[in-house]
Amino acid sequence: MPERFILAVDQGTTSTRLLLVDEQLRLRARRGREFRQIFPRPGWVEHDLDEIWQTTLALIPEVLAEAGIQPRQIAGIGITNQRETTGLWRRGDGKPLHHAIVWQCRRTADTCARLKQQGHEPLYRRRAGLVLDPYFSGTKLRWLLDHLDGAALAAERGELCFGTIDSWLVYKLSGRQAHVTDVTNASRTLLMDLESLAFEPGLLEPLGIPAACLPQIRSSSEVYATTRGVAGLPDGIPIAGIAGDQQAALFGQACFQPGMAKCTYGTGAFVLINLGQRPLASQHGLLTTVAWRIGDQTTYALEGSAFIAGAAVQWLRDGLRAIRSAPEIEGLAASVDDCGEVCFVPALAGLGAPHWRPEARGILVGLSRDSTLGHVARAVLEGVALQIHDILRAMEADARQKLTELRVDGGASQNNLLMQFQADVLDVACVRPADIETTALGAACLAGLAVGMFPDLAAVQRAWRADRRFAPAMGEADRARKLAIWARAVERA
Ligand code: ADP
Repeated sequence: MPERFILAVDQGTTSTRLLLVDEQLRLRARRGREFRQIFPRPGWVEHDLDEIWQTTLALIPEVLAEAGIQPRQIAGIGITNQRETTGLWRRGDGKPLHHAIVWQCRRTADTCARLKQQGHEPLYRRRAGLVLDPYFSGTKLRWLLDHLDGAALAAERGELCFGTIDSWLVYKLSGRQAHVTDVTNASRTLLMDLESLAFEPGLLEPLGIPAACLPQIRSSSEVYATTRGVAGLPDGIPIAGIAGDQQAALFGQACFQPGMAKCTYGTGAFVLINLGQRPLASQHGLLTTVAWRIGDQTTYALEGSAFIAGAAVQWLRDGLRAIRSAPEIEGLAASVDDCGEVCFVPALAGLGAPHWRPEARGILVGLSRDSTLGHVARAVLEGVALQIHDILRAMEADARQKLTELRVDGGASQNNLLMQFQADVLDVACVRPADIETTALGAACLAGLAVGMFPDLAAVQRAWRADRRFAPAMGEADRARKLAIWARAVERA
C-alpha cells in the first residue's frame, strides 16, 4: 500500500503554508506563500479572501511535488488558521461581500467602548471567556452588516455566510457544500457560550447578529466534509481537523494534561495552559478559551498574550539598526554577563495580559555610563521573557497549580539565551521540541486522529521529541532582584 499523508494547511496572518506529514508524524514537505496585507486606514487591516484561497490552491501542486507523492496519497486535510479574522460571503456562489477584517484591525474600538458603557462586558467575560475588544470576531461581523448595502437583511434571510478563515477554507475545499467551524475558532467570536458550545441568543442579541449567517459548530477532529472540485486534488478527500493556530500549537506540543503549557514566541507571544475539562474564569486578566474538542470531550485553556516579543528584536534591527538580522541579537546579548540595572519593558504597542494597559509604552531604564549595546540587547531579550513570566504567574494563580515545564516554539524560541533566561526567571524548565512546526503538526494530528491514521493521543505523544531542555540555573536572590527591577519598570511604562 502506498504511504499515506495528512495535508496540513497553516493559514497565517502574513502567509499561507501547506505541509505534508507522514504516518510517523514526520514533516515531509513544506511550501509557503505570502499574500497582501491591506491597510485602508491607520489601524485598519484587511485580507482578500479570494487571494487567500488562490494562494492555497497554488501551493497544492508545489507541496505534492516537493514530497514526490500522488494526490490520492492524501488521507485527510487538517486546517489551522489565524484566528478571529472575519469574512462574509454569499451562501449561493461564495462571492465575498468585502475583504476579511483581520484580527489586528481596530476599527470597532468605538463599538466595544459603547457595549462596555452599556454594561455588557461581564456577560461576555462570564459566558464567552473574552473581553470586549476589537480583536474578536463579533464586532467585526457587526461592522460588515452595518456598512455593506443590504447585508443585514440578506444575513437575516440566510443568504450570507459569516466565517473565520477555517470556515472559508472548508467551504471552498468542499465545493460550497459545508458551512462549518470548530469550537476553538467559535470560542474567539464572542458569540459562543463556553459551557453549551453553541452560539447563544443572549450573546448574539447585544451585538445584533442574526443566527442565520452563522456556521455550524463542530469538534476539532471529525470529518466535516470531503473535497469537491478542487484543482489538483481528487474529490472525496476528508477534511478532518480544524483548530485555531494557538490551540493547534498546544495540541502539537502534546500538552494533553491539565497544567501543561506552551509559549509561542513569534512577532508577539502567546501562552496557553491546559485547564482540563472545566472552563475556569480568570481572576487575573486572562482569557478562557476552548483548547480542542475530540469526540464528546472538551478541553479548555487559559490564554495570555504579549503583543510584542520577536517584534522587539525587529525593533532593535530596523528601528535602532543595532543588529543586521534577528539571530545576531544572541551574540550581542552574550557580550555581557548580566545587564545589571538595565531593564527594558517591551510595551511598544501597550501592555497585554495580565496588565491590560493599552496606553503603556516601551521604556529602557537603569542606564549608566558603562552601559553598552550588549546590555540593551540583553535587556530586550530579558524583557520579552519577563512579560511571559507575569502571564504564567497569573495562570498559576488562576489554575491554582504550579507549572512543571514550559514547552516553547515559534521563531524566537531558537534563541538559546532567551530560553535559558526564561527558564531562570520562571524557575521552571523550558523545553524546545525537535520540530518547532507545532501548529501545523497539531492540525495534522487532529485530522489524522479523525481518519484513523493515528489510533489515539498516545501516538501523538510518542512522536513529540525534545530538542533541548533548558533547566533553571539562577539563584533565588538573583531572581528576586531581577523581578523587583522589572516590577518597578513596568509601573513606569
Ligand atoms: P510570526 O509567525 O509571528 O511571523 P515567527 O514564529 O516566524 O513569527 O518568528 C519570527 C519572529 O522571531 C520575528 O519577530 C523575529 O524577530 C524573531 N526571531 C527570529 N529568530 C530569532 C532569534 N534567533 N532570536 C530572537 N528573535 C528571533
